[in-house]
Amino acid sequence: MLNGKVALITGGSRGIGKAVAIKMAELGCKVAINYVSSDKNAKEVAEYINNELKGICKIYKCNVAVEEEVKNMVKQVSEDLGDIDILVNNAGITKDNIILRLKPEDFDEVFEVNVKGAFNCIKAVARGMMKKRYGKIINISSVVGFTGNVGQANYVVTKSGLVGLTKTVALELASRGVRVNAVAPGFIETEMTDKLPDEVKNEMLNRIPLGYFGKPEDVANVVAFLASPESDYITGTTIHVNGGMYLS
Ligand code: NAP
Repeated sequence: MLNGKVALITGGSRGIGKAVAIKMAELGCKVAINYVSSDKNAKEVAEYINNELKGICKIYKCNVAVEEEVKNMVKQVSEDLGDIDILVNNAGITKDNIILRLKPEDFDEVFEVNVKGAFNCIKAVARGMMKKRYGKIINISSVVGFTGNVGQANYVVTKSGLVGLTKTVALELASRGVRVNAVAPGFIETEMTDKLPDEVKNEMLNRIPLGYFGKPEDVANVVAFLASPESDYITGTTIHVNGGMYLS
């Protein structure tokens, strides 16, 4: 369905990003995986795509919070695989604490990666997409960006911020054929959620009407839809993937 399209997935070495990278490869994309530190994980995902799926995948180590690094990465991806058609802004971190204990530097760091990272990547690919009059940008927000969450003021700001960024860039790029949307996952089983205490996990589970946690593939399937031509009349919106969590 996406044969020959070039997809850049930030934070593609683990969790949701890894599932998105594999899904994109299964649909025929040439896949660029970005990550910041886990070389082994990134190599394993690329090997799986190249050897098992007989796809095309390359890895790019870069901190998305640093504009210069992002510019160089995007240039390199274009040289290696071709101009980027699909950008998935998935890289994200948490530094949780209640507001009274939340350090300003932890506020800044989470903002730099989660929002500034997406901003840097969008800026770096936008011109190329506008020229081609085609592009799909998908930002990974979170249910907590809509509900708030105790102990995550910094993270919640970034995830609401990505929704505003999505709407604004969708408006700015619509006339050039570039679609910009967000996906807001609920509680998905990855290393990010693994580190939460059991009582928090149980409390979360009680808030999910479907009664179970999501898998990275549940998010990847929706990202794939937004990346495909089947969603061409959708822009500026957020799709929730949370087992009904937002309703309760
Ligand atoms: P994860 O397992 O912790 O993986 C995070 C990924 O982001 C890794 O690939 C990591 O690379 C990369 N990354 C972190 N900082 C980076 C930076 N500065 N530059 C480039 N890459 C960076 O996280 P996840 O649970 O899959 O979450 C993925 C996204 O979904 C995040 O934006 C998260 O906020 C969002 N989300 C997750 C959930 C959930 O329940 N899991 C729910 C809602 C939203 P390394 O491997 O090199 O460290």
